[in-house]
Amino acid sequence: MALIVQKYGGSSVADAERIRNVAKHIAEAWDEGNQMVVVISAMGDTTDNLIELAYNVTEHPDSRELDVLLSTGEIVSSTLLAIALKSMGYEAISLSGAQAGIRTDASFSRARILKIDPKRVLKELKRGKIVIVAGFQGITEEMDTTTLGRGGSDTTAVALAVALKAEMCQIYTDVEGVYTADPRLIPEAKKLSEIGYEEMLELASYGAKVMHPRAVELGELFNMPIWVASSFTHSPGTLIHGGASMEIRNKARAVAYDLNVAKITVVGVPDRPGIAAAIFEPLAQAGISIDTIVQNASIENITDLTFTVAKGDLDKAMKVVEPIAKSIGARECAADAKLGKVSVIGTGMQNAPGYAVRMFSALSQEGINIHLITTSEIRITCIIDEARVKDAVRTLHQAFELEEEE
Ligand code: ADP
Ligand code: ASP
Ligand code: MG
Repeated sequence: MALIVQKYGGSSVADAERIRNVAKHIAEAWDEGNQMVVVISAMGDTTDNLIELAYNVTEHPDSRELDVLLSTGEIVSSTLLAIALKSMGYEAISLSGAQAGIRTDASFSRARILKIDPKRVLKELKRGKIVIVAGFQGITEEMDTTTLGRGGSDTTAVALAVALKAEMCQIYTDVEGVYTADPRLIPEAKKLSEIGYEEMLELASYGAKVMHPRAVELGELFNMPIWVASSFTHSPGTLIHGGASMEIRNKARAVAYDLNVAKITVVGVPDRPGIAAAIFEPLAQAGISIDTIVQNASIENITDLTFTVAKGDLDKAMKVVEPIAKSIGARECAADAKLGKVSVIGTGMQNAPGYAVRMFSALSQEGINIHLITTSEIRITCIIDEARVKDAVRTLHQAFELEEEE
């Protein structure tokens, strides 16, 4: 008997009818003779609505209480799903993250899983139950409820699959798998039958929200195969696994985009040792993640330093950087909040010349100006105006002939 961990996302359980549909989906896999642990997200926009509620009460909600509040979304969906399964005659039980043994650190709203103690889950499996686990949440040593960050149910699912030594982790969502680009934006995008962890991690980290990057990272670390498919249809999905990245394809695999980019430029910075540390250390202390950093070659020992942050962090970052810029004698700080990034990804691009030029010419033919460029071995990213990001995805999907994939 195989043990399978399944996860259903928010849109798959958005209303009572969809919950019944998911219950049927689970029952089918159970009837095939599998042991099942099912991780569930909050219904539809529940998490957004709960956040809004808290911010309507006060501008700065307490972080501990906010996590307890947000965790209730997944409690509602997990109990409703267990109710649906029981009404169909299946033995099911819902467990909170705490009951499922998901132990985290105490960083509210972005807690990390430290370990999983799956005693209770194993006990219920032994009793012949389908175990429904509330995703996105855990518990600290002090028994405080935490949440794992937006989209965190994917992480719960893969972590549980690893802890339970499941055969695979199945992620059911509102699209049929991982595509060469977001299928909602590019209708011609092709579904990939398989993709390696490395490519998937770059895709997820650079905006393809079909999988959370932390979940992909965990999958890679423990070599847990992840199957992404639709909860609404039965068409074959995408297998994320270790074998795929071994295939060297002389091709880009996918395009990702992210609209959540803001840029800060510190203009006229004296070029001497210690300046970068003086700027980035206080930003790190303020808990602000920096993405891209570019320093221009200096002219007469004066340089410009540019870096990007998430839009929500821009004001906070400017408040940190402006006084430092003044104190080190920089001319000024300039902010741009209306940016986005577009990335072309593929292991086939490794050590192969020509991909960067192809990307830059495609963008220039569309009249799209590039602000910054960053690369990894298997990715090229351009930071461009937010308003042109979607055009850029369309033009790059064509330029790299991704509609002809597979
Ligand atoms: P869930 O609620 O199931 O976790 P998400 O909304 O987090 O679902 O992720 C699914 C969405 O990811 C899809 O609706 C799709 O618009 C988006 N997406 C972005 N890039 C891709 C891609 N390359 N392949 C598939 N889906 C993608
Ligand atoms: N409900 C949480 C969110 O909306 C977690 C998840 O859906 O994965 O971010
Ligand atoms: Mg998601």
